[in-house]
Amino acid sequence: MADRPGLALVAHDRQKDEIVAFARQYEEQLGAFDLFATGTTGGRINAALPTLNVTALKSGPLGGDQQIGAKIAEGTLSALIFFMDPLTPMPHDVDVKALTRLAVVYDIPLALNLATAELLMDHHAGLGSPPRKPGAA
Ligand code: PGA
Repeated sequence: MADRPGLALVAHDRQKDEIVAFARQYEEQLGAFDLFATGTTGGRINAALPTLNVTALKSGPLGGDQQIGAKIAEGTLSALIFFMDPLTPMPHDVDVKALTRLAVVYDIPLALNLATAELLMDHHAGLGSPPRKPGAA
């Protein structure tokens, strides 16, 4: 549905189980959003929770992180939840940096771990406002 705020979900491989468990715990809250995810993350969530109807983009290493970054730049996303693997070097580290950078540039809520994602969901009603433009006070 186009009038719901957008929210993106991304998890590195060792965090996939964690993001599925998170989505299960917050299924009702997440249902208020138009959900997007990188390919494998979206596939895992859709398999576990089909009613969330996550739009799965390309896999992260194949451009999915950049697709989500483009949605941030277009103003489509109101928040990004990105469960990063802090212990494993990735071939697409540059994409990870680019994606998190755009979330900061456009000043959208960015959760990089479970604790922050839980806080976001506890306040999800405040996530519907359109993202601010870069540099706007
Ligand atoms: P994936 O991508 O959901 O396709 O595994 C996540 C990532 O590595 O950015």
